[in-house]
Order: sequence, then structure tokens, then C-alpha cells
Amino acid sequence: AKQEGRGCFRYFTQNLTYAARERIDLEARLHRAVEQDELRVYFQPQVDIATGRIVGAEALVRWLDPKEGLIPPSRFIPVAESTGLIADVGEWVLRHTCLQGKKWIDAGLPPLTLAVNISPRQFLRSDIGDTVARILQETGFPPTCLELELTESALMEREQDVVTLLNRLRDIGVRLAIDDFGTGYSSLTYLKRFPLDVLKIDKGFIDGIPHRKDDGAIAAAIVAMGQTLGFKVLAEGVEHEGQLAFLQSTGCNMYQGFLRSPPVPADTFRELLVHAHAP
Ligand code: C2E
Ligand code: CA
Ligand code: CA
Ligand code: CA
Repeated sequence: AKQEGRGCFRYFTQNLTYAARERIDLEARLHRAVEQDELRVYFQPQVDIATGRIVGAEALVRWLDPKEGLIPPSRFIPVAESTGLIADVGEWVLRHTCLQGKKWIDAGLPPLTLAVNISPRQFLRSDIGDTVARILQETGFPPTCLELELTESALMEREQDVVTLLNRLRDIGVRLAIDDFGTGYSSLTYLKRFPLDVLKIDKGFIDGIPHRKDDGAIAAAIVAMGQTLGFKVLAEGVEHEGQLAFLQSTGCNMYQGFLRSPPVPADTFRELLVHAHAP
């Protein structure tokens, strides 16, 4: 047993070393990726349920590694978040999205709200307001067209600071959304206290619709509660017509999902938009 224990220990340390090395390697490569323009922003349409029109898009980052190809955010956002590199990645995504949005406005496309994910660590830096204001100014993208997606976990930290940060962002004129709603340790009281505009119902509650009655009931309750408190409600991860029909019956305002389109590169998004709005 002793022998076995030692073996286990060696196995464990070797794995740890490997994991640590891989992480340091990824960190260094990601750092380079930001500098060498290997990041890309994809856009996923946000659709008004009542009219079927595309009213906005969520910006989702990808990493185009010369060797590995397209790397999804699930592989590098957590690393970026834990190393602090998220500030650079996040600022890059924000600037790139505002620049793209400005190009679309200048090209005469219908006005859109572009939503950018802000990670908890990025949000809790006290200069987030300055960063957002500076990027809006540099790019000329209108504040009212920018939405920031925040997670419940970021909002649950240091409540008084959070209220100050949110109010500062509100003053700049951007819209605020709460992402993955219903998955965190949320306290419903913060919904009243925080100046938010949009609730995004997590895909986890949408998946079971229409066959799972409890998922449908939760989604309908979030829509009713959110709207009573003055928010717009958006359902994430809508893949089937049945889900959309159910959401329509609840009065949910918007949806996002593969049913309409996966996240796509800017040029493809523009084609979607032009096509959707053609007479
Ligand atoms: P999220 O913010 O909840 O983004 C939604 C995710 O769901 C996206 O995955 C999107 O591609 C996916 N999705 C959308 N509709 C459907 C659907 O109908 N079915 C399925 N199965 N999936 C759908 P993605 O792009 O891989 O992003 C994963 C997560 O990575 C995001 O979750 C977000 O937490 C994070 N992320 C992505 N881009 C950024 C970024 O620029 N900054 C930060 N901080 N996080 C980001
Ligand atoms: Ca999001
Ligand atoms: Ca989400
Ligand atoms: Ca999510």
C-alpha cells in the first residue's frame, strides 16, 4: 500500500507539473496573441421575439492560433481571468467591437446594440468606467449602442463598490445586462438595487422547454419578474422552434441561439443583417 501511495504521489506531482507548465505556456502564448492580433470577435444575433428582427449582437471572442486554429473562449478566458491577462483581452474585445460597430453605423446599417462580456475581475477593477469611457471616445461608437454583460458573481462581490461602478457606467450611457441569470448565488434583492437593463436567462433553463414543465415555469417566472422590475428579458441558447413558441407565449422580449444563427465573423453577420432587413 505504501508503494502504491508513493506511486500515486509521483503521478499526482507529475500531473501538476504538466498542468502548471501547460498553463504557463498558454499564458505566454495568449499574451503574444493579444499583441500579434490573433484574437477575433464573432457576433451572434440578438432577435426581437415580437418582430423577428435582429436588434443587436453579442460579441464573443475567439483565438485564431497559427498552429492550433480556432480556440474557443472556454479554453483561455479562465486562464486569462486567473492571471490578470483578462484586462488586456477584455480591453481588446471592447475596442475591437466598438470599432466594428462604428464601421457598421458609418456604412448605414440599421442601429444595433452590441453586447460585450465583462469578466468579474475586469469589472471589479475600479478603473472600468474610465476604460469604457476612453474606448467609446477613441472609437466614436455611441454609448447607447453598447451593452455590457456582467455575471451574477461579479455583482455579488463588495456590494457598495458594485453600486458605485454600475452607476458610473450608467452615467456614461451604456446599457447593463446580467448574464447567465439564475445560475449564480443570486439574491433577488440586488435586482431592485442595481441599475440594470437586461436579464439574460441562462441556456440551462431554456434547454428543457417545452417538455420539462419546471424549466418552462422558471423561464416564465423570470420573464414576468424581470419585466415587472422594468428589465428587458432575453433568452439564451434557443435552438428549436418549440422553445421560441413557448418564449413568445411568455412575452419574453428577445432571444439568442442557434435557431437563428451561431456566432459568426463580422462579414457574415453583416450579410445576415442586410439579408434580414431587405424588403
Ligand atoms: P456566454 O457569455 O454565456 O456566451 C454564450 C455562449 O453560448 C457562447 O459560447 C455561444 O456560442 C453559445 N451559444 C449561443 N447560442 C447557443 C445555442 O443555441 N446552443 C448552444 N449549445 N450554445 C449556444 P462561446 O462563444 O464558446 O463562449 C463561451 C463563454 O466564454 C461565454 O459564455 C463567456 O462566458 C465567455 N466569453 C466569450 N467571449 C468573451 C469575452 O470577450 N470576454 C469574456 N470575459 N468572456 C467571454
Ligand atoms: Ca454573455
Ligand atoms: Ca450567457
Ligand atoms: Ca454561459
